[in-house]
Amino acid sequence: MLDRPLRVAIVGAGPAGIYAADALMKSDKAKDRGVSIDLFERMPAPFGLIRYGVAPDHPRIKGIITALHKVLDKPHIRLIGNVHYGSDITLEELRQMYDAVIFSTGATDDRTMNLPGIDLDGSYGAAQFVAWYDGHPDFPRDWPLEAEKVAVIGVGNVALDVARVLAKTSDELLATEIPANVYEGLSKNKAVEVHVFGRRGPAQAKFTPLELKELDHSPTIDVIVDPEDIHYDEGSTVARRSSKITDQVSTIIEQYALRDPKGRPHKLFLHFFESPVEILGEDGKVVGLRTERTELDGTGNVSGTGKFTDWELGSVYRAIGYLSDNLRQIPFDDQAGVIPNEAGRILDRGEHMTGMYTTGWIKRGPVGLIGHTKGDANETVDCLLDDMLAGNLLDPSEPGEDSIVKFLESKDIPFTTWDGWYRLDKHERSLGAATGRERVKVVERHEMLAASEPHKVQEYNS
Ligand code: NAP
Repeated sequence: MLDRPLRVAIVGAGPAGIYAADALMKSDKAKDRGVSIDLFERMPAPFGLIRYGVAPDHPRIKGIITALHKVLDKPHIRLIGNVHYGSDITLEELRQMYDAVIFSTGATDDRTMNLPGIDLDGSYGAAQFVAWYDGHPDFPRDWPLEAEKVAVIGVGNVALDVARVLAKTSDELLATEIPANVYEGLSKNKAVEVHVFGRRGPAQAKFTPLELKELDHSPTIDVIVDPEDIHYDEGSTVARRSSKITDQVSTIIEQYALRDPKGRPHKLFLHFFESPVEILGEDGKVVGLRTERTELDGTGNVSGTGKFTDWELGSVYRAIGYLSDNLRQIPFDDQAGVIPNEAGRILDRGEHMTGMYTTGWIKRGPVGLIGHTKGDANETVDCLLDDMLAGNLLDPSEPGEDSIVKFLESKDIPFTTWDGWYRLDKHERSLGAATGRERVKVVERHEMLAASEPHKVQEYNS
């Protein structure tokens, strides 16, 4: 065994990458040798999906940051932020400095949808909207919110996030960490009706019960379901019997359908058995959505009935699932949208790429709650450490901890550190305190960098 600690680079400092770092530090298999981890992140701040994907009015989920903090506070884990894999650093360069690399870059784009009218003005991907309201530095600061009636395609939790943010008032969201430009943008939001469309039935919806119930907690939103949309077939009954979540979700939808509207100012309709077939436009702009009524075929799947409805709407958001980025020099399965892998070992034409691993959404696809990523990380790390014990990792020529610091300095890349996050965190909290809020998120990259003070890189020089 080598007389230096195992050097691991993790690319992507969201929950997946941080859970992998934690699993590496905790594993008995690495105890004797010790592990030294560099966690690369293209944003100046860590936490990935939690900072840039979770809706601002979900503080319970944002609270996971507290647990992730504890991991990053540990010695032997360094954050190296504002460094983009593929442009700032290549695979070859990582290979020279680390025994192993774990890719955990998640899924940040929208899955593509082939629908006539998809490119009209007013047709948006949920991922773009989420990036806007979560203050992602690389997205525009303005968002057009002129439409009074809005459609959301898809009945998963992202659709619920998008629908809720569109239907709530800006003042309801002021208690959260939304950036100043987002509060201003939402203050001008004209939406009074949000229509969410599922192509199948209540038993096939991908919502989770807590998130579905929570829709009803807003004093400004009336959740409305047409009783005509409550249908089950044998496949649905089996699904309800075999999954408590499916059963609970179906029951909540039934309860929404049974009650009278509460007369709240914003209406949020959950439609089922309506499959989008075309986004309707005039002069290049969205004016509606055409859907086809569907019916269950006995298995829980649906077929079209040939009955079409045109919904008059000013914008359409598609929340049909996320897509991972194809990373340079790493194999990618375009069909599945993941890095081909076996239990986390990256495969290139069926063969394990020595020293290369993956975890999180880019490993298994963009499904599952944040907690599910933990088991994923354990599996990947287990494989990596087995390979270490078998002497089957990379053989870096510059494995010292200083190598990456010297490399980034030589390229003049202003990278951020974990202490830099503490400075940015303090800055955001002080912005919040000035207006009686817990935090106001900083959105401009240069401002994030200024607050993090990347020039203090000597923090990582030994
Ligand atoms: P999702 O759960 O997979 O839902 C995607 C939805 O889009 C499904 O209803 C799907 O319907 C529909 N869809 C797909 N293709 C379509 C098409 N061509 N036409 C019409 N509808 C189509 O994905 P997601 O909402 O992006 O969520 C991703 C993961 O993140 C999930 O595990 C979710 O629970 C999690 N998440 C959690 C929270 C939270 O607050 N806890 C928030 C956001 C996300 P079919 O089933 O018919 O294909």
